[in-house]
Amino acid sequence: MNYQRYSRPVPAIQAPIDGTPIQRAAFADTARAYRMCCRCVMDTTDPEITFDENGVCSHCKYFDSTVRALWPSPDGDSQRLVEMIRTVKDYGKNRQYDCIIGLSGGIDSSFVAVKISEWGLRPLVVHVDAGWNSELAVMNIEQICRRLKFDLVTHVVDWEEMQDMQLAFLRSNLANQDVPQDHAFFAALYGYAEKAGIKYVINGSNFATESILPAAWGYDAMDATHVKGIHSKFGSRPRGKFPIVNFFDYYVKYPFLLKMMVLRPLNFLPYNKSTAIKVLEESYGWRYYGGKHYESRWTRFFQAYYLPYKFGYDKRKAHFSSLILSGQMTRPEALDGLAQPLYDPKLLLEDKLFIAKKLGLAAGEFQGYIDQPARHFSEFPNQLRKKLFASKIYRAAKSLVKRPASAGLNAK
Ligand SMILES: [Zn+2]
Repeated sequence: MNYQRYSRPVPAIQAPIDGTPIQRAAFADTARAYRMCCRCVMDTTDPEITFDENGVCSHCKYFDSTVRALWPSPDGDSQRLVEMIRTVKDYGKNRQYDCIIGLSGGIDSSFVAVKISEWGLRPLVVHVDAGWNSELAVMNIEQICRRLKFDLVTHVVDWEEMQDMQLAFLRSNLANQDVPQDHAFFAALYGYAEKAGIKYVINGSNFATESILPAAWGYDAMDATHVKGIHSKFGSRPRGKFPIVNFFDYYVKYPFLLKMMVLRPLNFLPYNKSTAIKVLEESYGWRYYGGKHYESRWTRFFQAYYLPYKFGYDKRKAHFSSLILSGQMTRPEALDGLAQPLYDPKLLLEDKLFIAKKLGLAAGEFQGYIDQPARHFSEFPNQLRKKLFASKIYRAAKSLVKRPASAGLNAK
């Protein structure tokens, strides 16, 4: 894994969010002519994208060369699925739970919960409430667990600690403002798995709807050194009990000592986003909230405003491109989708006021942070070197220990 280092902030892009094509992005080469892939809708707003002589982008190439090898068919792999279910059931004999799942109330995790019930597995369901749940998300979680008769543990992150972490990231002017929420989510989930002695962590991540995500548009939320570094530089109170999963636990203790494994069964199913929504709505009283990961009010604001406006990174491009590559969307449909406004102006104003107030900021002060120059994660402490070293060790150990070669418990 190579990455570009940037030692200096760059001006905020202030891109339009009304559906006007976004063609400039932070940390992208300003001398480079704008270009969009002829197969998907990824473009030069990804600073690291390259194109072949036919105009096909590096994400499509990666999909063909690497993702296809891991995910041979969008039609699923019933044999591997049956094996996976049998393994989890065998492990669960004489145990209260055979697996653990994190439920956000979004499409993927809700759908995987439904499938787990159909397969007869007995999960402990964990929801991490980091303070940004939309009412719909809370309702979806309750409906799903009640109807499936699953045990639900809700871990509430101390709001003052969460708020301070969010403010620290906001002051850092980094692209990935979802790090506090994502890190807390996985740290708490793995903590519960360890406490309950559960080996199998099942999640809803999948190649069908999220095979493309430019590395340059964010940074690894599981990097504890980064989380702590940003907080100690920009936070204003002790971290307290904010859930942190440190390097040793994430790369050594969980995968090797406790032999925990993350399973992604949606990759073995013919997983289709529209069908999943239909099943959830018709049979489980679940309701859609209008965009990928918009079950969190913060994430909606972050993805539909902060990231495109400040950095020129429109995550819909990656999401639609994933759906194009898995045959769930056509390119003209994706282009139509991109021409839609990122935010309803009235909702944007409401969300902006709500978030500013929740973070304890005046509306103008909040916008002031958003308009500050954009910064790159490589300016701040991170454990990337350590991670690269760990990857090498993993590869060397692969022949001795039967584990996936990818580094980290949550790696794809
Ligand atoms: Zn492409």
